[in-house]
Amino acid sequence: MRYVSTRGHAPAVDIATALSAGLAPDGGLYVPETIPQAAGVAPGMSLAQTADALLAPFFEGSPLASRLPGICEAALDFPAPLRRLAGHDHVLELFHGPTAAFKDFGARFLARALEALRRPDDPVTTILVATSGDTGAAVAAAFHRRPGFRVVILYPHGRVSPRQAHGLGCWAGNVRAFRVDGSFDDCQRLAKQALVDEALRRRVSLGSANSISLGRLLPQAAYYAHAAVEFQAAHGGLLNFVVPTGNLGNATACWLARRMGLPIGDIVLATNANDVLPRYFGGAEYAPAATRATLANAMDVGAPSNFERLRHWHATDEVLRGSLSSHSVDDDAILAAIDDAHRRHGEPLCPHTATAYDVLARLRAAGDRRPWAIVATAHPAKFEAIVEPRLGRVIDPPPALADCLARPASAEPLAPDYDALVDVLLH
Ligand SMILES: *Cc1c(COP(=O)(O)O)cnc(C)c1O
Repeated sequence: MRYVSTRGHAPAVDIATALSAGLAPDGGLYVPETIPQAAGVAPGMSLAQTADALLAPFFEGSPLASRLPGICEAALDFPAPLRRLAGHDHVLELFHGPTAAFKDFGARFLARALEALRRPDDPVTTILVATSGDTGAAVAAAFHRRPGFRVVILYPHGRVSPRQAHGLGCWAGNVRAFRVDGSFDDCQRLAKQALVDEALRRRVSLGSANSISLGRLLPQAAYYAHAAVEFQAAHGGLLNFVVPTGNLGNATACWLARRMGLPIGDIVLATNANDVLPRYFGGAEYAPAATRATLANAMDVGAPSNFERLRHWHATDEVLRGSLSSHSVDDDAILAAIDDAHRRHGEPLCPHTATAYDVLARLRAAGDRRPWAIVATAHPAKFEAIVEPRLGRVIDPPPALADCLARPASAEPLAPDYDALVDVLLH
């Protein structure tokens, strides 16, 4: 399989190059030249086996192909259970990894894949990551103590929860966390600029782990494939998904699984008050906007980076609008959803998952009776300051998160300024 840029002005590359580069040299995102049909995904498989079967065609012809089963086993060694909430409402729990959010799947896969690509005399690779909270922690955990790698994290100061900040700053060793005086979009712009800076890249070996990274996108398709195949085996029919959405990595992976032929029905993107996608899917021009701070802060994105991939894969805007839909959920509705899920199901939800819960409630109110799964993107204990007062009780963090919280944490200040970042990367 060969990989091309969404912008069409860069040569086609193999998967090893696409994984290491992050961004294509023309500033576009790498996509596979064709989307293969899934073969060999069957009920009864583990998540790792599902990923191996699903992703094998993407690695065909690469020296990494023979390493793929081992990469999947090592990276995807925790479950993604599909649980029934009530009636035809389900929840796909993606928070059982080391940092209690779905980004563990992609970050761990990418780390193992890049490790498999290293040659003994390669220079140390700096993984540069801009984060609105959960990415940085997942990437730090995935690369922590991995020889040959160091991690530089950029996050918007004051815009992540105290526990998220702790999860970014608790690693030490080969991980440095920087709190940037700016928004997430500022952080992302700085990281993108560094990754296309040829002069800089001659002096330091840079790697990307943002949601633009193909090595994060591909493995995320595996849990949708696994859930949909298991659901079909047990109940027959298609499973529909509501995906809490920010940079569109998770939802694009769901779309990819459906396009590969997995039994997935409708896919609805739940956003917070940052409503660029609902406006677009409602018929307006695509218009990136300044980011607004919300309770679901890992989705505070005004210019969803994977949109470029979705556009590449659909011939026209009309076709794309027919393929997905999107609804915005404001902070009041997030809080009401947290209350409602707890009252009706005894289910604590994180604020991101609450956006999907609210969207499903609206679909049910409009008479939709099909099977749906809302995607639980983080454990509610990560957002205790929001969730606990609503529930009137303490939510215990899962063990890995509790370990991280027990360690000291620190971050260094950084101006939202490219020269300041270059300075950090060179020293
Ligand atoms: C990153 C994140 C999202 C948004 O996922 P995208 O792939 O960026 O759309 C949603 N919820 C949580 C908890 C996240 O960490």
